[in-house]
Amino acid sequence: MEEILANNRKWVEEKMAQDPDYFNRLATGQKPRYLFIGCSDSRVPASAITGTGPGEMFVHRNIANLVVNSDMNLLSVLQYAVEVLGVQDIMIVGHYGCGGVAAAASNKQYGLIDNWLTNIRDVIRLHETELLRISDEKNRLRRLVDLNVIEQVRNLAKTNIIQNAMRSENPPRLHGLVYDIHDGVLHNLEVKTDMLEEFVHIYGTEASAQSDAAAQPEPATQPEETPEGTAEKKKAKAIKSAEEQDQLMRKVG
Ligand SMILES: [Zn+2]
Repeated sequence: MEEILANNRKWVEEKMAQDPDYFNRLATGQKPRYLFIGCSDSRVPASAITGTGPGEMFVHRNIANLVVNSDMNLLSVLQYAVEVLGVQDIMIVGHYGCGGVAAAASNKQYGLIDNWLTNIRDVIRLHETELLRISDEKNRLRRLVDLNVIEQVRNLAKTNIIQNAMRSENPPRLHGLVYDIHDGVLHNLEVKTDMLEEFVHIYGTEASAQSDAAAQPEPATQPEETPEGTAEKKKAKAIKSAEEQDQLMRKVG
């Protein structure tokens, strides 16, 4: 840890030398323009590859940059970034040479993580025909990295957080990027937003329907039944069944 702390002190000195007010300014709050959702891989440093500094980018990373609709961590980051911080650009950043993607494409078990990797296997299933056409394994994995990013952009659009934000005055833009660890270049997959509209009849939801229901007055409730009323009903029922029984007995007789 000494090395880490020494690096930190050096960085503080450098920053202070350039701008003595640097940390005071950052301490006042953040208003990042970007939300970066990338892989945990140590070779994909979010700030370095995007040239962003402190305060400019909100970051969430997990294995293979997945957007899983039951992941409270991801959803909390997304909701806070969109609704509180008001980020303008949300990028899913995959990378070639992703170990998570390669593990998902194999049939080996790795433990708990296998369950997480199932999300990538779902991407394989959705695009199996296209992937099987690529004979070279390296190229097939590269394409799977692209497809995984595209599907994660779609997954973003499936959330009610993004759907609501898209109806706002200043909707965020969604992007799918892939970083090539072989040459350091970040590629824009130019994920089309109309692709997201393709599935709106399945995944589209409206907050207004719920609010309308909430705004409507409660339906008039039936007057509460008194114990006497209930007793009367029970009595009537008993008489009716006694009459029926009587009729039945007469028939049999
Ligand atoms: Zn990765």
